Amino acid sequence: MTAKTTFKILGSGAGPGAPSFFCNCRGCLEAQDNPSLSRTRSGAVISTEHSTILIDTPPDLRVQLIREKITDIDKIFLTHWHYDHFGGIGELEYYVKLKRKEALPLYLPPSAVEQFHQAFPDLEEVFEVIPWEVGKVYSVGPLSITPLAANHGIETAGFLVQSPDIKLAYFPDTAGLPPETAQKVEKVEWLICDATFHGDNWFPMSHMSVEEAIELGRLVKAQYTVLTHLSVHYSQPITVKELQGIASRHSGVMIAYDGMTLPL
Ligand SMILES: [Zn+2]
Ligand SMILES: [Zn+2]
Repeated sequence: MTAKTTFKILGSGAGPGAPSFFCNCRGCLEAQDNPSLSRTRSGAVISTEHSTILIDTPPDLRVQLIREKITDIDKIFLTHWHYDHFGGIGELEYYVKLKRKEALPLYLPPSAVEQFHQAFPDLEEVFEVIPWEVGKVYSVGPLSITPLAANHGIETAGFLVQSPDIKLAYFPDTAGLPPETAQKVEKVEWLICDATFHGDNWFPMSHMSVEEAIELGRLVKAQYTVLTHLSVHYSQPITVKELQGIASRHSGVMIAYDGMTLPL
């Protein structure tokens, strides 16, 4: 693909973000001292020559779009209906009303359609709400995007993004992968996955630790495993430098950061 086709991580943090306003652990202090190490909530953007596709609308969406100079959006795919992934959806209201002037397609989990309508009755005109189907291939120009089931307690997808040259799997919230999903993402060039916890995994049914995420990458034979949705301060605080130390002991493992851009 041309260099114009990219997958960019808009946010690489877990629910509380880093730094968190209520926390003064080593990880949060590091991010406070050096804002380039901070982590906004998890989301991504796929850019091709002709279209821009958002994956998730985290509460930090407005600052993420401004930071990355994204001025138009053509479609949105939501992984799941948790606040850290949908909370910024209202930020798109004025973009649609003042600039786009037609409803923005919003693909979301079938079980979240009702919740969307209940939570945002004022945004009915802003979005064209479309429930995604697991396993269905959505074509966007030269790319295909396929929702695949994740393990996260509520109905959740990750997305397999394929260009003619590269396969990339994005699973920001998942505890391992269901077998049929693992099979579909086997040998991807890029696995970008949940590594919420360092130390104890408080929610082993819905998230992974750094160590579990590295193991998942090995299991599905990903060429590169990019750890994201990093909390840095749940069970055991960790700094970026320490995370990079862990990654460097495994071949093909990288630590995501806000603005990280991968080729497609
Ligand atoms: Zn979640
Ligand atoms: Zn999350």
